Amino acid sequence: MKSKFDIMSLVRENVKALSPYRSARDEFQGEAAISLDANENPFDRQTLNRYPDPYQRKLKKKISALKDVEESSIFLGNGSDEAIDLLIRAFCEPGKDSILTFTPTYGMYQISADINAVETVQLPLTANFQIDLEKALEVNAKLTFICSPNNPTGNDMDVEAVETILENSNGLVIVDEAYIDFSKRESWTKRLEEFPNLVVLQTFSKAYGMAAIRLGMAFANAEVIEILNKIKPPYNVNGLTQNFALEALENGETVRQDIYMILRERATMEEAMKELREVKKIYPSEANFLLIEIDRAVELYRHLSEKGIVVRDRSKQVKDALRITIGTPQENKTLIENIKAFYA
Ligand code: PMP
Repeated sequence: MKSKFDIMSLVRENVKALSPYRSARDEFQGEAAISLDANENPFDRQTLNRYPDPYQRKLKKKISALKDVEESSIFLGNGSDEAIDLLIRAFCEPGKDSILTFTPTYGMYQISADINAVETVQLPLTANFQIDLEKALEVNAKLTFICSPNNPTGNDMDVEAVETILENSNGLVIVDEAYIDFSKRESWTKRLEEFPNLVVLQTFSKAYGMAAIRLGMAFANAEVIEILNKIKPPYNVNGLTQNFALEALENGETVRQDIYMILRERATMEEAMKELREVKKIYPSEANFLLIEIDRAVELYRHLSEKGIVVRDRSKQVKDALRITIGTPQENKTLIENIKAFYA
């Protein structure tokens, strides 16, 4: 349990002082018989002529039940990428504050920081892709981004290391759980009450199969959520997305089946990769992709691309590495056949 933590002292002065935009939907929240307050077109187009709920209340209620997190501790964004950007904008003073990342990792932390003129301190992960705790504790960053399971390495970060960072950091610690549904580990959302400086990111883009609707989640202390709400664009999650997600969440069985299939295919792919002489290493994965070290990785990448099979070349971050998303059984089979043909 972390002792008292003053979140407001971390917020940028201009954000603290900001008087946020109040939309028509902020000013009036009841059920109106006649809505003449938002300059909308009055003619019904399946209610799409109306602005959506800026705080996505119905959707949050469902997500709250699903994730066992209070509604006041949930922020929804246009993808979790929006939450990453808003966190940096709310808490990091350009030219002064910094974020900490553990590389190789997801690229958007640094890119969002760069866009906002915020410095990124990068600490390389150890040989088995874990956090170098001693070095991490020496850095005093406003925001520490921990991606777990990590993209592109696929592994979970050691729970005790994350705990130690949460306990010792003077800033917020963001655990990006985009791939949590493929992991055996329990989500960090279970520990929000213990750590007032913890922010957990999740997304509908991976296991939930809704990358196109752009819906990301941030779970945190209600104070952090209020700050994100204060600076977000008024209608950041559009009405089509809210409606689609509400409906899709009725059918949790599909998601469970997809996860089951993907995990089974991940195991099948691991076995198939082990059979290939040219594969030097298969990194353990808790995600829906495999990172492999393979002979002539870049050449293979180009060859596969020419055949219309696109994997991710990660050789600039990890020696001779390709990152391969787990596809359908048929797609995976075709990939293995094409890899075999390349080396034959
Ligand atoms: N975090 C990680 C670790 C990711 O890999 C991705 C997407 N590749 C994201 C966040 C962004 O997800 P979203 O689609 O919710 O913006």
